[in-house]
Amino acid sequence: MISYGRQDITEDDLRAVEEVLRSDFLTQGPAVPRFEARVAERCGARHAVAMNSATSALHVACLALGLGPGDLLWTVPNTFVASANCGRYCGADVDFVDIDRDTWNMDTAALADKLARARAAGRLPKVVVPVHFAGQPIDQERIWALAQEYGFKVIEDASHAIGAARNGEAVGSCRWSHVTIFSFHPVKIITSGEGGMALTNDAALAEHMVLLRSHGITREAERLESPAPGPWYYEQQMLGFNYRMTDIHAALGASQVARLDGYVARRNELALEYRALLAALPLQCQAVEPGSLSSYHLFAVQLGEGVADRHARLFDRLRSAGFGVNLHYMPVHLQPYYRRLGFKAGDFPVAEAYAQAAVTLPLFPTMDADVPRCVVEVVAATLG
Ligand SMILES: *Cc1c(COP(=O)(O)O)cnc(C)c1O
Repeated sequence: MISYGRQDITEDDLRAVEEVLRSDFLTQGPAVPRFEARVAERCGARHAVAMNSATSALHVACLALGLGPGDLLWTVPNTFVASANCGRYCGADVDFVDIDRDTWNMDTAALADKLARARAAGRLPKVVVPVHFAGQPIDQERIWALAQEYGFKVIEDASHAIGAARNGEAVGSCRWSHVTIFSFHPVKIITSGEGGMALTNDAALAEHMVLLRSHGITREAERLESPAPGPWYYEQQMLGFNYRMTDIHAALGASQVARLDGYVARRNELALEYRALLAALPLQCQAVEPGSLSSYHLFAVQLGEGVADRHARLFDRLRSAGFGVNLHYMPVHLQPYYRRLGFKAGDFPVAEAYAQAAVTLPLFPTMDADVPRCVVEVVAATLG
C-alpha cells in the first residue's frame, strides 16, 4: 500500500541517532537545543521550544498566552482535532471559523465578520489558531491586522507547513503571530519520530513555555524566587508538565532539517505533475495564492458537484489499487466530542461540503515518479 505520506530516513539520520545513543545524554542533553537552534535559524524566529508533540506545544502555547476557563479559542473545522483540543485542555470554550472555498484555509473575511459580531456580543476570542492547511500559507498579515484591532493572540498551527513561505517570509518567522507550532510526526514534512516545536520572537513567552514543558521547574539562579541554599536547589514555580523531547528524537529532527528544502522542492514537483494530470477532470485542486510557496504536506482534491456522489467509490477504488488515500479532514465540530458541546451539521457549510468531496492523494518525496500517473488513471476511470 502506498500511503498518502511517508517518512524518509537516511544513513545520516541513523548516524545522528546512534551518536546520541552512545553519548552521556539520552534526554536533557545538547541535541535538543541544537535542533531548536536549527529550526529557529531556518525560519528566522528568535526562540524555539521543542516538545514531545505538536499537541503538547499547542497546549503549552495556549497556557503561556493566558488562555483559561471562560476564555474562547477559535480555529477552523478543517484541521486535525489537536488545533481545537488545546483550548479545551485549558478549560476554554472552542468555536470555529469556516474555510475559504478555494484555499481551504480559514476564510479571513468570515473571521472579520465573526469578530465584528463577537465584539457586539461582548464575547471576543482570546486566541485564534489559523492552520496552514496542506502546507499552503494563509494570509497571516491580514490575521495579524485583525489581532491588533480586536486584541486576540495568534498561534499559527503550522504542523503542515515547515519549509513554506509567503511573499518571501518563511512560515515560522512569527512576524505576524505570537507563536508558531510545527509537528514532526513521521507523516509531516520532516520528522523526529514524535515531536513538535513552538517558535516565538517573545523572550518572556519562550521562557514561560520552557517552564511549562518541564514541570514548571527552574534551577536558573537569576529566576529563583528565593536565594538558593545550596547547589541541589530548584523551584517549582507553576504547574507544568513533562512534555520534553528526548535527545534521541531531537538528533533525528536536526538531521532532517538539512534536507528540508530538498523535500519541499520535490513535493512541489510532484504536486505540479498531479495538477497537470488532473487538469481535465471534474475536480478542484487547492488554490495557490500569488507569492506563496506551499510545503505540500498534503495533496488534496475536491470532487466537483456533479461527481461528489462518487466520493466513497473513489476511496474504495484507490485503496483497492494499492493507494492509501485519506480524508483531511472530517470537520472537527462534527466529531462526537464536539457535537456533545453543541455543534451540529450545517454550522460550517463550506468545510462540511469540502469534507464530503475531498480526497488526499499520495505525495511524499521518495515515492516512485510514476505514482501520480497511476493514481490519476484510477481517478479518471472512477469519475469518467
Ligand atoms: C499533525 C497535526 C497536529 C498534531 O501533531 P502531533 O505532533 O502529532 O501532536 C496538530 N495540528 C495539525 C494541523 C496537524 O496536522
